[in-house]
Amino acid sequence: MTFQDIINCSTIESVLDGNNSPAKEEVLDAVGRARSGEGLSLKDTAILLNAPSELVPDIIEAAKEVNLRIHGKVITFYGVCYISDECINACRYCGDSAHSDVQIWGSAKRRTLTLEEFEKDLSALLEGHDFKEVCFLAGEHPKAFDTDALILYMQTVSEIYKGKIILNVAPKTAEEFRRIRDAIPNKLHFRVFQETYDRYVYEREHPTGPKADFGWRLTSQSRALEAGFDEVGFGVLFGLNDGKFGSRYEIMGLKTHSDYLSATFGVHPMSISFPRVLVATGVDYEIPQPVDDDVEFIKLVAVTRLAIPETNLIITCREKTGFRSKIRPIINIEDFGAKPGPGANYDNGVHFQMELPDRRSGEEIRQEMKEQGYDVR
Ligand code: SF4
Repeated sequence: MTFQDIINCSTIESVLDGNNSPAKEEVLDAVGRARSGEGLSLKDTAILLNAPSELVPDIIEAAKEVNLRIHGKVITFYGVCYISDECINACRYCGDSAHSDVQIWGSAKRRTLTLEEFEKDLSALLEGHDFKEVCFLAGEHPKAFDTDALILYMQTVSEIYKGKIILNVAPKTAEEFRRIRDAIPNKLHFRVFQETYDRYVYEREHPTGPKADFGWRLTSQSRALEAGFDEVGFGVLFGLNDGKFGSRYEIMGLKTHSDYLSATFGVHPMSISFPRVLVATGVDYEIPQPVDDDVEFIKLVAVTRLAIPETNLIITCREKTGFRSKIRPIINIEDFGAKPGPGANYDNGVHFQMELPDRRSGEEIRQEMKEQGYDVR
């Protein structure tokens, strides 16, 4: 399998180009088809992405309807546990990247939690909520935290936590995925963000390290499913793509990738995340094409909801408080007051990978959801 089996950039661009200025009737027809909750063709997805702004409220209303019908008024929290911020990649936008050392780390030390610290962090997290799913994250550093260490840490997790384990770690080989699967009894979800489906933008933003290999990353969910992982998730980093179609291209990429998984494995991704680029203090980086128009961003998420209705959509503390409430009716999963640094669930003083606009505690967010009438799980 190669990445060309999953994504064909020319096809995406020609469908977007061919439906660049849809008539009002075309948009409303596509919205009508979307309301069935059966998903959208690539062409209908492009029509909605290119819809004129006066029709965006129709798209958002349809997305709310479909979300409520298929997923109910339910938000699932996931817990977040950072294991390591050591990383040999050099993603240009990231505060944990190898090239950010000089800029922001100074005398601070990158860190991989010892097993003891990790257990302490996990226990602190689990005290806050009865999580059905917990996401474990680590930078890519084969010496600091390799696959054997990952297995050891997750076996420790499975002794005290029986819910779903989400591994948001660097792509593994098929053999490594199999070893992880065989060692861990919990439901397993592999999550990795492609960041961008545009190969050229990807290569510019990820110049060195294993992550520079676009195809290795794009095919990783398939390797995980082949190895017996129960489910996979993906996402893009909005703001990176400054090409002709920008973020609209990325939604088409998510849709195409999802269709590939469905055709090959019979499953769509369990989750899609919608992070917007946030730059850590001290990192010298200009976001190529910021998606700072909230209405435009909601439209992108709404079209995804209509295009891939069964997949859970995730919004996190990367978004501002008020905006999270606004977009909640079209998504299903949120993080529980995530703290993006190793040990941050028990130690307030650790370095974060990025600045978070929403610094409320999980408890405060849960209270808000309940007041809004959500069933919080
Ligand atoms: S985004 Fe992830 S892979 Fe890239 S430098 Fe940061 S921690 Fe490493």
